[in-house]
This record gives sequence, structure tokens and C-alpha cells, in this order.
Amino acid sequence: MPLMTGDEYVESIRRKKMQIYLLGEKIIGPVGNPILAPSLNAVKMTYDLAQDEKYRPLLTACSHLTGHVINRFTHIHQNREDLIAKVKMQRLLGQKTASCFQRCVGMDAINAVFSVTYEIDRKYKTAYHNRFLRYLEKCQEQDLVIDGAMTDPKGDRHLPADRQTNPEAYLRVVERREDGIVVSGAKCHQTGACNSHEILVMPTVSLGSGCEDYAVSFSVPIDTPGLLMIIGRQSCDTRKRESAPIDTGNQRFGGVEALVIFDHVFVPNDRIFMNGETEFAGSLVERFAAYHRQSYGGCKTGVGDVLIGAAALAADQNGTAKTSHIKDKLIEMTHLNETMFSCGIACSCEGCPTAAGNYSVDLLLANVCKQNVTRFPFEMARLAQDIAGGLMVTAPSQKDLENPDTAEYIRKYLTAADCASAQDRLKLLRLIENLTLGTAAVGYLTESLHGAGSPQAQRVVIARQSNLDEKKKLAERIARLESSDRR
Ligand code: SF4
Ligand code: FE
Repeated sequence: MPLMTGDEYVESIRRKKMQIYLLGEKIIGPVGNPILAPSLNAVKMTYDLAQDEKYRPLLTACSHLTGHVINRFTHIHQNREDLIAKVKMQRLLGQKTASCFQRCVGMDAINAVFSVTYEIDRKYKTAYHNRFLRYLEKCQEQDLVIDGAMTDPKGDRHLPADRQTNPEAYLRVVERREDGIVVSGAKCHQTGACNSHEILVMPTVSLGSGCEDYAVSFSVPIDTPGLLMIIGRQSCDTRKRESAPIDTGNQRFGGVEALVIFDHVFVPNDRIFMNGETEFAGSLVERFAAYHRQSYGGCKTGVGDVLIGAAALAADQNGTAKTSHIKDKLIEMTHLNETMFSCGIACSCEGCPTAAGNYSVDLLLANVCKQNVTRFPFEMARLAQDIAGGLMVTAPSQKDLENPDTAEYIRKYLTAADCASAQDRLKLLRLIENLTLGTAAVGYLTESLHGAGSPQAQRVVIARQSNLDEKKKLAERIARLESSDRR
């Protein structure tokens, strides 16, 4: 059966000879690194839950290529039920990790590349789709993590790719050879790059003629020569190596992002899925973005469930759980969280088949989903901090709790209602801090804002999909405007 266990996954990443830089130093890899290991654990959860009978229906699917049971993260959505299961799986993983579990970018990328390669072949009689299917089958059979890579640095955003001062502000083909292409450039904010086996590159914007070298999609193993990662800093990241797990808030799980550099990376022909077909760049961007905007209706609500639970526990500890305004704030958090989830489910239920046969989400509803996600987690974080109280940012450290000079004072003054121990109180407050200000806030807040496209990117699609003319006609008819009689 092509499913790896969590431990086998970790071993497979250990064997990768990646080029990774973290805090100014070259490191061997994420396995055993105190700052990166929590992010590896979060991805590992996508393997562990697939082994668990209870979660297998959500975490696995039947490959349409081989008929084998595969991890849902490598699956091509065959129907609306698959789209719905995806969102529910993401919510579950958010609940289990309270962080970004990183594997969705690859799932969203393979579904977008699947349909676009089919359409390129139909127009140009190229052979990208079959080539992609062979690649996909290998990823399914080996249960690989694929890092979907879209965002280029973009340089001066007023200028197109081919007029930038730095010609590699957008990743491009720098050499075409008989046996493949050589590419240079970078992809920013690459979620989970150092925990992935493969990186699947796509263009980042619609491209016009003259930009053929930028219209490129391909995949290479993450340890390909010429590819290196510079890990992004996260707020409070070095707490993870202080040997004070309470202060990290979420000791076991976290997310990771990297700036991934492609310095003359060779891509063999059998791994190229677009090479110069500029008019399809926009479709690839739009489809990947729609799938990833759907994803946020799942993962962020799972993390939101943990935040709501933490806020409710903080209220218990503070003795304020029965206070009406606290109850109302918890209701508001739940309302916001379920609204995001509803959008993720709705855009899945309204999904439709593509020409290639896989299922796409409803574009308008997926963008409405993500637009809500750019706002609601921030309000939920504000409410959680309100309920938790200022101690969340003024509490002493674990080391003070362990120091005999101060330990008794901390126990005496920070033990709260229901005899909640000072230690449990600190653990809970640090979790809320982690989710709203610390390392997990990268995934829960800033990524909610900018991941899968910043708010304006959704508004552009919402404007395009809003069908104002049809709505005007509806109003004209009801109001019996004179012009409506002519329609
Ligand atoms: Fe998955 Fe959410 Fe992380 Fe994106 S932000 S990779 S959808 S968990
Ligand atoms: Fe993301």
C-alpha cells in the first residue's frame, strides 16, 4: 500500500541532502533541529492520521490513476465529496496541530496543474498532461510531500516580468537544451519547503507575449543541485531552543516558510509541465489560488477551534466563564469561525468538473471564503486576548517558575480559580500568545491575510465574478423601471 507511516516520512526527509540556511548558519536538515522539528511534526501528522482507522476516511482516497488507497494530500479531486472531505480533513489537522501543517500547497498545486496541462495539450498538441500523470503517479505511490511554489519576488510591481531591472525577479528559463531547461529565480514564503520531497513550480501572474521564459511549470526534488532555502524568522522562534517548553506555547507543532533560491537548476524534460505557453499562466494562477482559498476555510477554522477552546479555558481559570460579556465573546468567536468553515464547504458543494475531469471549487465562493479569512482570525485573536487578560504578555517565564527564589511567589500569586495551578495557567496563556503573537501567529494571522493572495487579489476575482449586470436586471424588473420593459 502506498502509504508511509509518520516515522518513515521523517526518515525520508532525513535522507534528503538539502541546502538549508537558518539564522545565518547552514544546517543539515529539519530532523532534530529544535526550531524546525515542530514544523516537521506538523507534516508528520498528515501521515500519522492516515494510519489511524478513525481518521482514514478523511485522510485517504482512492487514486483515479491506480485504484490504490493513497493519502488525500496526493489526490486529484474526483467529485464534490472529495472537495468537502478535503476541507474537513484540513479542519481536523488544524485542531490536532494548532499550526500550519504545510502539505496543502502541494495538493492544491497538483489539482491546478492537472487541469491546465490537459488544456495546454488540447490547444498545442503538446504532451504535458501524460507527463504530469506519470509524475503524479510516482508522488502518490511514494506518498510524497510536494511543495507548491508560486510567489515570485516580483521586484518593481508596476513592471511586467520581462521589464524588471533584475531579470530573475520572476523565475525564468535561462537556457533551453535538448534534454531539458535550466531555470533561475526565487520563490518566496515557501510553506513547508524544508519538509517536502518535491517542489512544484508555477508562474505567479498572468503573462503576455514576450514573457515566454517566465511561463514555466515543473517539479524537481527538493535536494536538487542549485536549489537552496533560507528559512524565514518567526516571532519568538528562538524560544524553541531555550529548553523551556512552557514558554513556546505549542511545543510540538509549528509551521515554516522559506525563501527558495533556484540558481541555474536543471530540469529534465520529463518534469516540465509548461514551457512558454504564456496564455495559460493566468489560468494556472487562478485555479491554484481558488483551491488554496478554499483550503483556508478548513485549516484556519481548525486552529480557530483550538483558540476558542483556549479562550474558554482561560475564562474558567479566571473565574469569568459565567460572565455574560465573556460568554458573548465566545459566541462571537464561534460565529466567526463557523462562517469561514461554511464558506469552505459552500465553495466545495458548488464545485464543478473541469475539462480534464477533476473537480474545481466555485471561484466566487472560494474567494469570498478567503476574504473572510483575511479578517475574522484577527477579530478572534482580539477577543481571545481580551478574555485571557494582560497576563498573557506579562507572565514570568518557565525558568522563573523553576527558580527556588521565585517559584513560591509565582505559585502564590498566579494560582487562579478552580485551583488552576500557576503552571497550567502559564501553559494556557503561552498557547494563546503563540497563536496570536508568536510563531503560530505567522500561520494563523499574517498568513490568513497574505497566504493564497492578499485581500485585494480576492476582491479582483469577486468583482469579476459578481455579475453586476444580471443583478441590475433583477432590480430593474422588480422596480418596473421603464428600461426593463424593453428587456
Ligand atoms: Fe495548509 Fe493552511 Fe498551511 Fe496553507 S496555511 S498549507 S492551507 S495548513
Ligand atoms: Fe498558505
